[in-house]
Amino acid sequence: MRPDLAACYGQERLPRYTSYPTAPHFLSAVGPATYAEWLRAIPRHAQASLYLHVPFCRSMCWYCGCHTSVARRDEPVAVYESALRCEIDLVARRIDRRIKVDHIHFGGGTPTVMAPESFVDLMGTLRHAFFVLPSAEIAIEIDPRRLSSAMVDALALGGVNRASLGVQSFDPVVQRAINRVQSFGETAAATENLRRAGIEGINVDLIYGLPQQTVASCLDTVRRSVGLRPDRFSVFGYAHVPAFKKHQRRIDEAVLPDGLERHDQARAIADALREAGYLQVGLDHFALPDDAMAVAFREGRLRRNFQGYTTDASDVLIGFGASAIGYLPRGYVQNEVQIRAYSEAIAGGRLATVKGYALTDDDRLRADIIERIMCDYGADLGAICARHGAAAETVLSSAPRLRDLISDGIVELDGASLAVTAHSRFLVRSVAAAFDAHLDASKQLHSRAV
Ligand code: SF4
Repeated sequence: MRPDLAACYGQERLPRYTSYPTAPHFLSAVGPATYAEWLRAIPRHAQASLYLHVPFCRSMCWYCGCHTSVARRDEPVAVYESALRCEIDLVARRIDRRIKVDHIHFGGGTPTVMAPESFVDLMGTLRHAFFVLPSAEIAIEIDPRRLSSAMVDALALGGVNRASLGVQSFDPVVQRAINRVQSFGETAAATENLRRAGIEGINVDLIYGLPQQTVASCLDTVRRSVGLRPDRFSVFGYAHVPAFKKHQRRIDEAVLPDGLERHDQARAIADALREAGYLQVGLDHFALPDDAMAVAFREGRLRRNFQGYTTDASDVLIGFGASAIGYLPRGYVQNEVQIRAYSEAIAGGRLATVKGYALTDDDRLRADIIERIMCDYGADLGAICARHGAAAETVLSSAPRLRDLISDGIVELDGASLAVTAHSRFLVRSVAAAFDAHLDASKQLHSRAV
C-alpha cells in the first residue's frame, strides 16, 4: 500500500465497531423500565452470553482506556462484588427462567482483584440464576503481575477455561513510560500456573503505538511472547484520548510514534506472528490454526461484540457491573459508569441502566454489513440486504465513501460483493465506516484507525 494512503486513512478517527451503532450514540431515553421490558421479551429459544465488569485495579497504567479505578484496599471490591450478585438476581427475576448461557466473560479493570472465595461464590450465583452449559467458555482478563496461586485454584474451581493475559510490551523503557513494569518471568509464571490448573485457553494482549515504542521493541516482545505459545494474541493500537482519560495526560506526547511508525509497528507484529504460525483473524486477533477462533474465521462464523472478536454466536449479551453494556434483540443498554451510583441503584432494588439505544431496521441491516466486513474483510451485500428486505443498490448509493476506497485500491466491488484488498486489511475500520450512517456525529470521540 502507498505510504501516503496508509498515513491518510490511518489517521482517521473511527470506531472499532464492537457494536453498531457505537456507544456514543446511546441515549438516556433508554432506562431501567425499557431494559426490564427488553429482558422480558428475550425469545424463549435464545441463548445468552454474560459479561461481568470489575472496575478495580491495584495501580493505574497510563495508557489504560478501560472504566477502572485504583483500589488499594479489599473492602470496596467486596462491596462491589455483593452489588454484582444483587444485580444478577434482579436481572434473572425479570427474565423469569434459567436462560441457557454459553459464554461468560469477566473483564475490567482487573477481575482477579476479587478474593478467590468471592470469585467462586460469584460463579455459584451465576450458575444458580442461569443454566451455564457444560461446554460454555468462561473467560477472564488477568494481570500477570498479581495472580496468586489461590486465585488460580479459584478460577479452575469456578470453571474458567480461558485467560487473557495483559502484556502490552516487554520493553522496560516502554513499561516505565506507561507505568506498567512487568517482567517476562511474571508473565511466564502466570501462564504456567494457569495451564497447570487446567486452564488451557491462553490469550496474550499486546499494544503498539505506545510511548517510546519502536519496531525493534515490538518484535522483541512478539518473540518472547511467542515462546509462551498462547493460542491467541490480540494486538491493539494505543488509543491516545487524554481529553477523556485524564491519566493519559501523564504520557509524554513527544515520544508517541507517529502515524507511519504505528503502521510499521502494526505490520511488523502481524508479519512476525504469521511467521510464528498464527493466522490473522479480523483486524487485531491472531490464533493458532486449529484454535476455535481461527476455525470460526475460516468458516465465516466469526462474530464481533463488546469484547472484540469472538466465537460467541449468541444474540443476547447481558452485562453486569458499572459501565457494562448489554445487547438484546431490541437494542443496547448501558449501566451507570460511576461505581457509587451503580451500587446505590442496585442496593435500591433498581436496574442500573442509564442509557441505551433502540435499534431500527436500518441499524440492524448496517450492523450486519459492518460485522461481516470487520470479521470477513468483505461482505455479500446482496445476501445480507435480501435477509433484511432491503435493496443492495440503495445501501451502496448511501455509502459515498466507498468511491474513494475503490479508487485508492482498498476495496474491490464485484456486483454487490465487496472485498477489502489483501494489502489493505489493516484499514478494515475505514471500509466498515463507509456503511456507518451515524459516523459524522461521533467522529472525534474515536481512536485512530491504525
Ligand atoms: S491493569 Fe488493565 S485495566 Fe487496570 S489500569 Fe492497567 S490496563 Fe487498565
